Amino acid sequence: MQQVDVAIVGGGPAGSSAGRAAARAGADAVVIEKGVPREDREDLGPDSTDAAGILDYWVDIMDLDEPIPEWVKLRELSGADFLGPNESVALNDTGIESSYPNFGFTVQRARLDDWLRERAENAGAEYRVGTGVRSVETDLTGSPTHTLTLKDGTEIRATHLVLADGPQRTITGQVLSEYLAEGVFEERMASPKVNHIAYQEYREFPEELFEPDRIKFWWGAMPGHTAYPWVFPNDGTVARVGLTMPIGLDLDTVENREDYVLLRPEDERVPSGKVYIERLIDWLYPEYDADDFPLVGDRGKRGGTETYPISSTRPIESPTAANIAVVGGAMGATSAFHEGGDHVAIRTGKIAGRLAGLDAMRAYNTEWREAIGDEVRRNVAFADMVVGYGPSDWDRVFGIISSVMDDGGFTPRDAVKTGISGAKLFGSYKKTKYRYRGPRVCQIREEEYTV
Ligand SMILES: Cc1cc2nc3c(=O)[nH]c(=O)nc-3n(C[C@H](O)[C@H](O)[C@H](O)COP(=O)(O)OP(=O)(O)OC[C@H]3O[C@@H](n4cnc5c(N)ncnc54)[C@H](O)[C@@H]3O)c2cc1C
Repeated sequence: MQQVDVAIVGGGPAGSSAGRAAARAGADAVVIEKGVPREDREDLGPDSTDAAGILDYWVDIMDLDEPIPEWVKLRELSGADFLGPNESVALNDTGIESSYPNFGFTVQRARLDDWLRERAENAGAEYRVGTGVRSVETDLTGSPTHTLTLKDGTEIRATHLVLADGPQRTITGQVLSEYLAEGVFEERMASPKVNHIAYQEYREFPEELFEPDRIKFWWGAMPGHTAYPWVFPNDGTVARVGLTMPIGLDLDTVENREDYVLLRPEDERVPSGKVYIERLIDWLYPEYDADDFPLVGDRGKRGGTETYPISSTRPIESPTAANIAVVGGAMGATSAFHEGGDHVAIRTGKIAGRLAGLDAMRAYNTEWREAIGDEVRRNVAFADMVVGYGPSDWDRVFGIISSVMDDGGFTPRDAVKTGISGAKLFGSYKKTKYRYRGPRVCQIREEEYTV
């Protein structure tokens, strides 16, 4: 049986970063990736579904030790547009200090993953692709030992386990449930319950419509908490047109259905991602046909399309006494508000891998909170604030924000300037963020694990 210091389940940004950091700390590390076929990658690799927009300050959060190479990038960005039914906000500055010169950029996600994998392998980690992990047995007598069984029956024994299996959390759920009271993991972290489903198409745009340097989000266009479509520019005039929505939303529970521009009176259930995208194109560009935006068949997972869950919940702490760290999408670090998750995946993977390699896993929960706590708290607070928002709420909020956007951020002075509604908005954000201070942002705390 192969024996290693650190075994990592999942080879996305979090898993590769963990593998590299563990190897650099001197450990024997193996990353196990089940392997997902993609049109834009010859051999099997990680899943790599992503709108793949990276904001300027996220690069600092990633803490990569070297710049992301140009061959991984697709477009430099000058800003993001948040569009409500009638009001909008054009953001040309994230308002957060960063070392990156522009607003951000988009990447070719499969290439980003391949580059991260290459870095892990160059550091000495093994990256095994093609067979997933079926189960993990942990023996806690003496120092913890984890025995991973792969789908082909191969066994690998490790002293440290990093769970980087992404938002589906198949192995994460199986492992953590051992240490939690019955039903806790399912209640708070099970994928169908707390994730969104995302669908994306790669479409060639007519040149005159293509905006090469802006990412765009339409809020209040479709029902569901933090549900929205987007357009992200890629190379040439190809854009990723995608959307995210809660899994299993019941249309009968949606109030004022007629206010959502992407719903139709005859809809009996929430439309599929494909239908939503057709309607989005139809709505935005009424003088064009869907045929004017052909699918780009050699991208994505299948024929220019891809589907994958997005973690849309609050993060969890890990049972570090068992030498286990949960990282990236598996731990719920992705933002429900804007899907940003690559930066926190890379950073949590790096922290967990290094600590595993140094046999110092107990520091993981404190270290990740120090590194990404502010980012997570911001995102969680925004997502909480907009629970129950309908189209008119988005117009109200965008109206308030755009009236004070001149100085880059929303300050107490702006709250005064925008009257009671602005003060309420600002107050509610501050209050929610305060509620989630320190470890309170985590929805499973370390002390809840019985190890
Ligand atoms: C449509 C969409 C748009 C997004 N847009 C953005 C964006 O613009 N910017 C941004 O920063 N983030 C974005 N995100 C979020 C981002 O993609 C995630 O936060 C990020 O991928 C998390 O990385 P990860 O390594 O934790 O998980 P993943 O990338 O999900 O990787 C997990 C890996 O584990 C593998 N795996 C799962 N189970 C097993 C098993 N049993 N054995 C072995 N391997 C296994 C999977 O195949 C997968 O490759 C988007 C996500 C989606 C779905």
